[in-house]
Amino acid sequence: AAVEGQVPQQADEQGISSGGEPKALIVVGPSGVGKGTLVSRLLSADPERYRLSVSTTTRAPRLGEQCTGSCKDRRNPSPPKHKTKNGVDYVFAPKEAVMAAIARGEFLEHAEVHGALYGTRRDAVEALRAEGRVAVLDIDVQGARQVRASEMPAIFVFVAPPSLEELERRLRAGRDAVAGGDEGGEPGGGGEQGGGEADLQRRLGAAKGEITSLNEKGLYDYLLINDDLDSTAEQLARIARRAALGLEAEPGHVPEKVILEDEGEVEEDV
Ligand code: 5GP
Repeated sequence: AAVEGQVPQQADEQGISSGGEPKALIVVGPSGVGKGTLVSRLLSADPERYRLSVSTTTRAPRLGEQCTGSCKDRRNPSPPKHKTKNGVDYVFAPKEAVMAAIARGEFLEHAEVHGALYGTRRDAVEALRAEGRVAVLDIDVQGARQVRASEMPAIFVFVAPPSLEELERRLRAGRDAVAGGDEGGEPGGGGEQGGGEADLQRRLGAAKGEITSLNEKGLYDYLLINDDLDSTAEQLARIARRAALGLEAEPGHVPEKVILEDEGEVEEDV
């Protein structure tokens, strides 16, 4: 019988047998690429198996974000009961508290993103792992590097747009997905960070840097180009099943070199 509170392991439909303890799933990608929608879909497809690793942040809650921690004292005292992902977006905490916890080594990774601190508590990820679940981390490139350098067994996925032009189009459309919008993940150009031209240009600039990180050897295991939400979601689900089974990432799913063409096309140099 399964240990109480544990998710039983299963072979997936391809009949791959288990490789051991589940791995964490790290999902990285620029703002506007549809990462929030992809992660939400994965989590709702099998909520017992896949759980969002709820990050801690020093930024203020956005309207509609569900939170724990010091929400009361901040700008969004009683956010509406709007469920996103697994119910909670972030633990909102004051900067001093986060810095102190980082100094105590309580964070698996942390980074400053758009002027706020974000981080993943080590114990939160370990707890999910102990329950036999896949912790899904929606983090930035800096965080992914730190997890890669850590002892945490994980599979790393980078979600890229088909081109920078397309990313810009999606950001302008004010949503983060090809279709269907988002259920509360990243803002695709809206939210407190503006949505104005300067904000859009900042996001595009950041996206170039993030896409360039694809050339860091051994950082990512998989590159998914989100040109079609349904098929990208399917590919992510397949990768996630490997993580659930504790299997290693398959080699050869990130091209040797990714170049950003002048027109911003994400191209594999073969
Ligand atoms: P947002 O404030 O829009 O929810 O997130 C902004 C960015 O911070 C996103 O790229 C998101 O992936 C990243 N982020 C969210 N949580 C974490 C975290 O715990 N660690 C790191 N390194 N990045 C995070």
